[in-house]
Amino acid sequence: LKKDGQKNWFLVSATPILDDHGNFDGSFAMLTDINERKEMELLLQESNRHLTELSNKDSLTGIANRRCFDTTLEHEYSRLKRSNSKLSIILIDIDHFKEYNDYYGHVKGDECLRKIGQTLESCVNQGVDLAARYGGEEFACILPDTDIDAAVKIAEKIQQSIRDLQIEHKDSSVSEFVTASFGVTTVQYSPDIYLKDIIGMADKLLYKAKVSGRNIIKHAEFTLDR
Ligand code: GH3
Ligand code: MG
Ligand code: MG
Repeated sequence: LKKDGQKNWFLVSATPILDDHGNFDGSFAMLTDINERKEMELLLQESNRHLTELSNKDSLTGIANRRCFDTTLEHEYSRLKRSNSKLSIILIDIDHFKEYNDYYGHVKGDECLRKIGQTLESCVNQGVDLAARYGGEEFACILPDTDIDAAVKIAEKIQQSIRDLQIEHKDSSVSEFVTASFGVTTVQYSPDIYLKDIIGMADKLLYKAKVSGRNIIKHAEFTLDR
């Protein structure tokens, strides 16, 4: 430490000094000042951390992006292998969003996505669950250690929070405000179940919610024969 409490970095190179019989008799050490190199290293570390954060973030909404969703799902599913636990997925698609854009314009459309992204993130358990923008006007949540009933409760909470935003949507046939449809599924690890199957199942349920009238949550435990 320097007098002012700052760290002083040195590289230590030491060579043993041996006596006539080859026994250790002390050492010769050389200190090289590496403060500049260390400073560069720390800057690089910080900039790498920042880049990793950026590459996992959706620039419009500020929440996790598709890339982060994919790597997190892979990680959580492989974690399931070692536990007897359940993993739930929620897929969310905004209803009549094309009409929203056509009616209010893309700037308002972007604003709407931002609000929904933020509210979605506030509905999940920070640090445990993941809320992400899946693409376009679609969002998705990964809920580790969550069974179907708990996952549906979270979907209901998200649905209510979107309702509470009261984003006017005059061109929607569903409601006077922006709504969304939900597909919720829960899976337990099996070597016969692949990630694309889980997403496929949630997507099918989402589609069911759409054809059943939208602003609806459809849920089912994952089964292989569906
Ligand atoms: P549905 O109720 O069946 O889901 O109908 P929809 O209109 O929501 O679905 P559709 O797939 O027809 O349209 C999605 C719209 O989302 C079209 C596209 O312009 C809009 N969209 C996708 N990404 C963005 C974005 O980043 N910003 C804005 N403003 N709009 C976006
Ligand atoms: Mg869509
Ligand atoms: Mg949509």
